[in-house]
Amino acid sequence: MKAKLLDGRAVADSIRIGLGPAVAAVRAARGTPPLLAIVTAASNSDRSSQSYQQAKVKACAQAGLMARCHSAGPEAREIIELLGRLGADPSVDGIMVEQPLPAALDPVRIFSAVAPAKDVEGVNPSNYGRFFLAKNAAEIAACGAFPPCTVAAIIVLLGESGIAACGREAVVVGRSEIVGRPAAHYLCALDATVTLCHSRTADLPGHVRRADIVVACAGRAGLVRGEWIKPGAVVIDAGMNRVGGAWAGDVEFAAAAERAAWITPVPGGVGPVTTAVVLANTVQAAQRVISKGNLEKA
Ligand code: NAP
Repeated sequence: MKAKLLDGRAVADSIRIGLGPAVAAVRAARGTPPLLAIVTAASNSDRSSQSYQQAKVKACAQAGLMARCHSAGPEAREIIELLGRLGADPSVDGIMVEQPLPAALDPVRIFSAVAPAKDVEGVNPSNYGRFFLAKNAAEIAACGAFPPCTVAAIIVLLGESGIAACGREAVVVGRSEIVGRPAAHYLCALDATVTLCHSRTADLPGHVRRADIVVACAGRAGLVRGEWIKPGAVVIDAGMNRVGGAWAGDVEFAAAAERAAWITPVPGGVGPVTTAVVLANTVQAAQRVISKGNLEKA
Protein backbone atom coordinates (compact mmCIF):
# COMPACT_ATOMS: atom_id res chain seq x y z
CA MET A 1 0.00 0.00 0.00
CA LYS A 2 1.47 3.35 -1.06
CA ALA A 3 -1.12 5.69 0.46
CA LYS A 4 -0.88 6.99 3.98
CA LEU A 5 -3.83 6.08 6.15
CA LEU A 6 -6.15 8.83 7.39
CA ASP A 7 -6.80 7.00 10.64
CA GLY A 8 -10.19 8.18 11.89
CA ARG A 9 -9.88 6.41 15.23
CA ALA A 10 -6.62 8.21 16.02
CA VAL A 11 -8.06 11.55 14.89
CA ALA A 12 -11.19 10.96 17.00
CA ASP A 13 -9.04 10.10 20.03
CA SER A 14 -7.08 13.30 19.66
CA ILE A 15 -10.30 15.37 19.31
CA ARG A 16 -11.66 13.73 22.48
CA ILE A 17 -8.43 14.32 24.41
CA GLY A 18 -8.36 17.93 23.19
CA LEU A 19 -11.85 18.46 24.66
CA GLY A 20 -10.59 17.76 28.20
CA PRO A 21 -9.95 21.36 29.32
CA ALA A 22 -13.25 22.64 27.88
CA VAL A 23 -15.21 19.80 29.50
CA ALA A 24 -13.51 20.58 32.82
CA ALA A 25 -14.34 24.28 32.41
CA VAL A 26 -18.04 23.53 31.80
CA ARG A 27 -18.09 21.28 34.85
CA ALA A 28 -16.39 23.96 36.94
CA ALA A 29 -18.79 26.66 35.75
CA ARG A 30 -22.04 24.83 36.49
CA GLY A 31 -21.25 21.62 38.34
CA THR A 32 -22.25 19.19 35.58
CA PRO A 33 -20.47 18.06 32.40
CA PRO A 34 -21.90 18.72 28.91
CA LEU A 35 -24.86 16.44 28.17
CA LEU A 36 -25.76 14.87 24.81
CA ALA A 37 -29.30 13.52 24.30
CA ILE A 38 -29.44 10.68 21.76
CA VAL A 39 -32.91 10.18 20.28
CA THR A 40 -34.03 7.06 18.45
CA ALA A 41 -37.36 6.69 16.69
CA ALA A 42 -39.17 3.61 17.98
CA SER A 43 -39.14 1.68 14.71
CA ASN A 44 -35.36 2.24 14.58
CA SER A 45 -34.85 0.57 17.96
CA ASP A 46 -33.36 -2.54 16.43
CA ARG A 47 -30.11 -4.11 17.52
CA SER A 48 -27.87 -2.13 15.15
CA SER A 49 -29.39 1.20 16.29
CA GLN A 50 -28.84 0.16 19.89
CA SER A 51 -25.21 -0.67 19.17
CA TYR A 52 -24.70 2.75 17.44
CA GLN A 53 -26.22 4.38 20.52
CA GLN A 54 -23.97 2.43 22.85
CA ALA A 55 -20.90 3.42 20.81
CA LYS A 56 -21.86 7.08 21.24
CA VAL A 57 -22.53 6.67 24.95
CA LYS A 58 -19.08 5.09 25.31
CA ALA A 59 -17.42 7.89 23.30
CA CYS A 60 -19.16 10.46 25.55
CA ALA A 61 -17.92 8.69 28.68
CA GLN A 62 -14.36 8.58 27.31
CA ALA A 63 -14.46 12.34 26.74
CA GLY A 64 -16.04 13.12 30.14
CA LEU A 65 -19.48 14.05 28.72
CA MET A 66 -22.80 12.65 29.89
CA ALA A 67 -25.12 10.92 27.43
CA ARG A 68 -28.81 10.17 27.80
CA CYS A 69 -30.63 7.84 25.41
CA HIS A 70 -34.28 8.44 24.53
CA SER A 71 -36.64 6.34 22.48
CA ALA A 72 -39.71 7.97 20.93
CA GLY A 73 -42.95 6.25 19.91
CA PRO A 74 -43.66 5.48 16.25
CA GLU A 75 -45.76 8.58 15.50
CA ALA A 76 -44.13 11.80 14.24
CA ARG A 77 -46.00 13.64 17.01
CA GLU A 78 -44.24 11.57 19.67
CA ILE A 79 -40.70 12.25 18.48
CA ILE A 80 -41.53 15.94 17.90
CA GLU A 81 -42.87 16.23 21.47
CA LEU A 82 -39.78 14.50 22.84
CA LEU A 83 -37.50 16.83 20.87
CA GLY A 84 -39.50 19.79 22.21
CA ARG A 85 -38.99 18.63 25.81
CA LEU A 86 -35.25 18.14 25.26
CA GLY A 87 -35.02 21.57 23.64
CA ALA A 88 -36.62 23.17 26.70
CA ASP A 89 -34.55 21.16 29.22
CA PRO A 90 -31.66 23.35 30.43
CA SER A 91 -29.64 20.27 31.45
CA VAL A 92 -29.41 19.15 27.78
CA ASP A 93 -26.68 20.78 25.66
CA GLY A 94 -26.76 18.73 22.46
CA ILE A 95 -29.45 16.71 20.71
CA MET A 96 -28.85 14.08 18.05
CA VAL A 97 -31.39 11.97 16.20
CA GLU A 98 -30.28 8.53 15.02
CA GLN A 99 -30.40 8.26 11.22
CA PRO A 100 -31.70 7.05 8.92
CA LEU A 101 -35.16 7.93 10.18
CA PRO A 102 -37.93 5.41 9.54
CA ALA A 103 -39.37 6.01 6.04
CA ALA A 104 -42.77 7.06 7.44
CA LEU A 105 -41.27 10.13 9.15
CA ASP A 106 -40.75 13.36 7.22
CA PRO A 107 -37.14 14.40 7.95
CA VAL A 108 -37.80 18.13 7.47
CA ARG A 109 -40.62 18.02 10.02
CA ILE A 110 -38.62 15.99 12.53
CA PHE A 111 -35.35 17.91 12.17
CA SER A 112 -37.19 21.25 12.43
CA ALA A 113 -38.11 20.17 15.97
CA VAL A 114 -34.45 19.96 17.06
CA ALA A 115 -33.70 23.13 19.04
CA PRO A 116 -31.35 25.12 16.77
CA ALA A 117 -28.90 25.97 19.58
CA LYS A 118 -28.62 22.25 20.51
CA ASP A 119 -28.47 20.98 16.93
CA VAL A 120 -25.04 19.36 17.19
CA GLU A 121 -25.52 17.37 13.97
CA GLY A 122 -26.46 20.38 11.83
CA VAL A 123 -29.80 18.94 10.68
CA ASN A 124 -32.31 21.65 11.56
CA PRO A 125 -33.31 23.36 8.27
CA SER A 126 -32.60 26.82 9.72
CA ASN A 127 -29.04 25.77 10.61
CA TYR A 128 -28.68 23.96 7.31
CA GLY A 129 -29.68 27.17 5.54
CA ARG A 130 -27.19 29.28 7.51
CA PHE A 131 -24.45 26.83 6.61
CA PHE A 132 -25.39 26.95 2.91
CA LEU A 133 -25.45 30.75 2.94
CA ALA A 134 -21.86 30.89 4.23
CA LYS A 135 -19.52 31.49 1.31
CA ASN A 136 -16.16 30.61 2.82
CA ALA A 137 -14.57 28.88 5.80
CA ALA A 138 -14.62 32.03 7.94
CA GLU A 139 -18.33 32.55 7.26
CA ILE A 140 -19.04 28.88 8.03
CA ALA A 141 -17.23 29.25 11.36
CA ALA A 142 -19.16 32.44 12.13
CA CYS A 143 -22.62 31.43 10.87
CA GLY A 144 -23.81 30.25 14.27
CA ALA A 145 -24.77 26.77 13.02
CA PHE A 146 -22.85 23.54 13.23
CA PRO A 147 -22.23 22.15 9.72
CA PRO A 148 -23.70 18.69 9.05
CA CYS A 149 -21.54 16.49 11.28
CA THR A 150 -20.40 13.89 8.74
CA VAL A 151 -19.27 16.69 6.45
CA ALA A 152 -17.41 18.39 9.28
CA ALA A 153 -15.65 15.04 9.85
CA ILE A 154 -14.74 14.78 6.16
CA ILE A 155 -13.20 18.26 6.31
CA VAL A 156 -11.28 17.40 9.51
CA LEU A 157 -9.83 14.32 7.78
CA LEU A 158 -8.94 16.32 4.68
CA GLY A 159 -7.11 18.75 6.98
CA GLU A 160 -5.15 15.82 8.44
CA SER A 161 -3.76 15.07 4.97
CA GLY A 162 -2.17 18.51 4.90
CA ILE A 163 -3.48 18.95 1.34
CA ALA A 164 -5.31 22.26 0.98
CA ALA A 165 -8.54 22.15 -1.01
CA CYS A 166 -7.94 25.57 -2.61
CA GLY A 167 -7.64 25.29 -6.39
CA ARG A 168 -7.94 21.46 -6.40
CA GLU A 169 -10.39 19.39 -8.35
CA ALA A 170 -12.77 17.75 -5.88
CA VAL A 171 -15.27 15.08 -6.90
CA VAL A 172 -18.09 14.12 -4.54
CA VAL A 173 -19.90 10.88 -5.40
CA GLY A 174 -23.40 11.06 -3.90
CA ARG A 175 -25.74 14.06 -3.53
CA SER A 176 -27.77 13.31 -0.40
CA GLU A 177 -28.82 16.22 1.77
CA ILE A 178 -26.90 14.88 4.77
CA VAL A 179 -23.54 14.10 3.14
CA GLY A 180 -22.96 14.72 -0.58
CA ARG A 181 -24.53 18.15 -1.12
CA PRO A 182 -23.15 19.75 2.05
CA ALA A 183 -19.73 18.16 1.38
CA ALA A 184 -19.74 19.75 -2.09
CA HIS A 185 -20.74 23.10 -0.57
CA TYR A 186 -18.01 22.95 2.10
CA LEU A 187 -15.33 22.03 -0.45
CA CYS A 188 -16.50 24.89 -2.68
CA ALA A 189 -16.28 27.23 0.33
CA LEU A 190 -12.68 26.05 0.71
CA ASP A 191 -12.11 27.13 -2.91
CA ALA A 192 -11.93 23.67 -4.47
CA THR A 193 -13.46 23.25 -7.92
CA VAL A 194 -16.24 20.79 -7.21
CA THR A 195 -18.08 18.22 -9.29
CA LEU A 196 -21.10 16.60 -7.63
CA CYS A 197 -21.83 13.15 -9.07
CA HIS A 198 -24.93 10.99 -8.60
CA SER A 199 -26.68 7.95 -10.00
CA ARG A 200 -27.43 9.69 -13.32
CA THR A 201 -23.90 10.99 -13.85
CA ALA A 202 -22.57 9.98 -17.24
CA ASP A 203 -18.95 8.81 -17.08
CA LEU A 204 -18.36 8.62 -13.33
CA PRO A 205 -14.88 7.13 -13.95
CA GLY A 206 -13.93 10.15 -16.09
CA HIS A 207 -14.85 12.57 -13.28
CA VAL A 208 -13.09 10.57 -10.57
CA ARG A 209 -9.94 10.28 -12.71
CA ARG A 210 -9.57 14.11 -12.67
CA ALA A 211 -9.99 14.42 -8.91
CA ASP A 212 -7.28 15.55 -6.51
CA ILE A 213 -9.84 14.98 -3.74
CA VAL A 214 -12.45 12.21 -3.90
CA VAL A 215 -15.30 12.08 -1.39
CA ALA A 216 -17.32 8.89 -1.78
CA CYS A 217 -20.77 8.89 -0.17
CA ALA A 218 -23.04 6.83 -2.40
CA GLY A 219 -23.67 3.85 -0.13
CA ARG A 220 -22.58 1.38 -2.84
CA ALA A 221 -19.80 -1.00 -1.85
CA GLY A 222 -16.78 -0.79 -4.16
CA LEU A 223 -18.46 1.67 -6.56
CA VAL A 224 -15.31 3.77 -6.94
CA ARG A 225 -12.72 1.55 -8.57
CA GLY A 226 -9.10 1.76 -7.51
CA GLU A 227 -7.91 2.18 -11.08
CA TRP A 228 -9.94 5.44 -11.40
CA ILE A 229 -7.97 7.16 -8.63
CA LYS A 230 -5.55 9.85 -9.80
CA PRO A 231 -2.05 9.16 -8.45
CA GLY A 232 -1.48 11.35 -5.38
CA ALA A 233 -5.19 12.00 -4.70
CA VAL A 234 -6.79 12.21 -1.25
CA VAL A 235 -9.60 9.66 -0.97
CA ILE A 236 -12.22 10.08 1.76
CA ASP A 237 -14.71 7.25 1.91
CA ALA A 238 -17.85 7.96 3.94
CA GLY A 239 -19.65 4.87 2.64
CA MET A 240 -20.73 2.27 5.21
CA ASN A 241 -22.01 -0.86 3.54
CA ARG A 242 -22.66 -4.30 5.02
CA VAL A 243 -21.01 -6.91 2.80
CA GLY A 244 -20.95 -10.54 3.94
CA GLY A 245 -21.28 -9.53 7.59
CA ALA A 246 -18.46 -6.94 7.46
CA TRP A 247 -18.29 -3.19 6.79
CA ALA A 248 -17.08 -2.02 3.38
CA GLY A 249 -16.68 1.46 1.93
CA ASP A 250 -17.70 2.84 -1.45
CA VAL A 251 -14.09 2.77 -2.66
CA GLU A 252 -12.17 -0.34 -3.71
CA PHE A 253 -9.72 0.17 -0.88
CA ALA A 254 -6.68 -2.00 -1.71
CA ALA A 255 -6.41 -0.90 -5.33
CA ALA A 256 -7.11 2.76 -4.51
CA ALA A 257 -4.46 2.70 -1.76
CA GLU A 258 -1.86 1.78 -4.39
CA ARG A 259 -2.50 5.08 -6.21
CA ALA A 260 -3.73 7.59 -3.63
CA ALA A 261 -1.48 9.71 -1.39
CA TRP A 262 -3.98 9.51 1.48
CA ILE A 263 -6.98 7.29 2.08
CA THR A 264 -9.51 6.62 4.86
CA PRO A 265 -10.23 3.05 5.92
CA VAL A 266 -13.75 1.69 6.36
CA PRO A 267 -14.46 1.13 9.16
CA GLY A 268 -12.26 3.45 11.19
CA GLY A 269 -12.29 6.51 8.93
CA VAL A 270 -15.13 9.04 8.70
CA GLY A 271 -17.40 7.25 11.25
CA PRO A 272 -15.38 7.76 14.47
CA VAL A 273 -14.53 11.34 13.52
CA THR A 274 -18.24 12.09 12.98
CA THR A 275 -18.96 10.94 16.54
CA ALA A 276 -16.06 13.02 17.87
CA VAL A 277 -17.41 16.09 16.01
CA VAL A 278 -20.82 15.62 17.66
CA LEU A 279 -19.11 15.50 21.07
CA ALA A 280 -17.03 18.60 20.30
CA ASN A 281 -20.18 20.43 19.16
CA THR A 282 -21.99 19.45 22.37
CA VAL A 283 -19.15 20.91 24.44
CA GLN A 284 -19.25 24.09 22.34
CA ALA A 285 -23.03 24.34 22.74
CA ALA A 286 -22.59 24.12 26.54
CA GLN A 287 -19.87 26.79 26.45
CA ARG A 288 -22.14 29.11 24.45
CA VAL A 289 -24.89 28.82 27.10
CA ILE A 290 -22.40 29.57 29.87
CA SER A 291 -20.95 32.60 28.02
CA LYS A 292 -24.45 33.91 27.29
CA GLY A 293 -25.36 33.54 30.99
CA ASN A 294 -22.17 35.36 32.01
CA LEU A 295 -22.92 38.19 29.56
CA GLU A 296 -26.48 38.53 30.88
CA LYS A 297 -25.14 38.72 34.46
CA ALA A 298 -22.56 41.37 33.56
P1 NAP B 1 -28.34 8.26 0.20
O1 NAP B 1 -29.26 9.26 0.79
O2 NAP B 1 -28.86 6.92 -0.20
O3 NAP B 1 -27.64 8.94 -1.07
C1 NAP B 1 -26.82 8.19 -1.89
C2 NAP B 1 -26.35 9.07 -3.02
O4 NAP B 1 -25.48 8.30 -3.84
C3 NAP B 1 -27.48 9.56 -3.92
O5 NAP B 1 -27.26 10.92 -4.25
C4 NAP B 1 -27.36 8.69 -5.17
O6 NAP B 1 -27.70 9.34 -6.38
C5 NAP B 1 -25.86 8.40 -5.19
N1 NAP B 1 -25.61 7.15 -5.89
C6 NAP B 1 -26.18 5.96 -5.69
N2 NAP B 1 -25.71 5.05 -6.57
C7 NAP B 1 -24.81 5.70 -7.34
C8 NAP B 1 -24.01 5.31 -8.44
N3 NAP B 1 -24.02 4.07 -8.91
N4 NAP B 1 -23.20 6.25 -8.98
C9 NAP B 1 -23.16 7.51 -8.51
N5 NAP B 1 -23.91 7.93 -7.46
C10 NAP B 1 -24.74 7.04 -6.89
O7 NAP B 1 -27.12 7.95 1.17
P2 NAP B 1 -26.44 8.84 2.35
O8 NAP B 1 -27.37 8.90 3.49
O9 NAP B 1 -25.84 10.06 1.82
O10 NAP B 1 -25.28 7.83 2.77
C11 NAP B 1 -24.28 7.50 1.83
C12 NAP B 1 -23.31 6.54 2.50
O11 NAP B 1 -22.66 7.23 3.57
C13 NAP B 1 -23.97 5.32 3.14
O12 NAP B 1 -23.12 4.20 3.00
C14 NAP B 1 -24.11 5.70 4.59
O13 NAP B 1 -24.11 4.59 5.45
C15 NAP B 1 -22.84 6.50 4.78
N6 NAP B 1 -22.89 7.48 5.87
C16 NAP B 1 -21.85 7.49 6.72
C17 NAP B 1 -21.83 8.38 7.76
C18 NAP B 1 -20.65 8.39 8.69
O14 NAP B 1 -20.67 9.08 9.69
N7 NAP B 1 -19.61 7.66 8.37
C19 NAP B 1 -22.88 9.27 7.95
C20 NAP B 1 -23.93 9.28 7.04
C21 NAP B 1 -23.93 8.37 6.00
P3 NAP B 1 -29.21 9.89 -6.68
O15 NAP B 1 -29.34 11.16 -5.92
O16 NAP B 1 -29.19 10.08 -8.15
O17 NAP B 1 -30.14 8.80 -6.21
